Amino acid sequence: MVLHRPGEGLVCEERPRPEPGPGQVLIRVHACEVCRTDLHVTDLHVVDGDLPPVRDSIVPGHETVGVVAALGEGVERFAEGERVGVPWLGWTCRECDYCRSGRENLCGAARFTGYHIDGGYAEYALADQRYVFHLPDEYSDVEAAPLLCAGLIGHRSLRMAGDARRLGIYGFGTAALRATARGGKVVCAGIHMSDIPSFPYEILWGERTVCSVANLTRRDGEEFLALAPKAGIRTHTQARPLAQANEALADLREGRVEGAAVLVTGDCLSSRIHQT
Ligand SMILES: [Zn+2]
Ligand SMILES: [Zn+2]
Repeated sequence: MVLHRPGEGLVCEERPRPEPGPGQVLIRVHACEVCRTDLHVTDLHVVDGDLPPVRDSIVPGHETVGVVAALGEGVERFAEGERVGVPWLGWTCRECDYCRSGRENLCGAARFTGYHIDGGYAEYALADQRYVFHLPDEYSDVEAAPLLCAGLIGHRSLRMAGDARRLGIYGFGTAALRATARGGKVVCAGIHMSDIPSFPYEILWGERTVCSVANLTRRDGEEFLALAPKAGIRTHTQARPLAQANEALADLREGRVEGAAVLVTGDCLSSRIHQT
């Protein structure tokens, strides 16, 4: 499912199966979550701060679950048939100050899956093996997909909350800072938000902090995917065929999705649909 121009919807296209280059794995996609960030990639001026197009066409999708179908030269982290997950962070320079200090999520040259790199709204996808995760067996393909962005970013946000003993989770609005204890933190985890309205200095006073969470590091992924089954994290999903990607995006835009919408491909549809 290919985006040619933001605002014009995705087009179903037949393409030859891609060949993995050096260091790449070819993945037979089973499931891919539909993330709110995908709306920022595919929409045009629907909301403030859409992500500007960076290519002539793109296959969206950055919460991809599938099995390795072929290995490029030099791939040693995975074997054919192994189940893997591909997140938003698709490539980093590994040389800048951010990359060298464990903050590759802030790399200025980073390339993101489903934005710079064709993503998981497809039957096959290529990925750089260094940015691909092993997945815990406790989750089905559909259940695992939302862990790769919603779960990961939630985990990063939780880590940024430090050793706080009480957490509040807010969807919209400015209730959050007023409710935060002195010395506490408001962590904004959205890739885009509407403007933050002005607020009285008094509610920031007391060493409260407002900060953002950007992207993820590979360390976040490895930590979180090991932790998720132990912590009993369950995902709530609605699976539908890949061909209904436009409908899934529309439902997400209109707030008609309960839990996470997950696109599934061909033969996986009958055998793997899971609604939890
Ligand atoms: Zn996402
Ligand atoms: Zn870098």
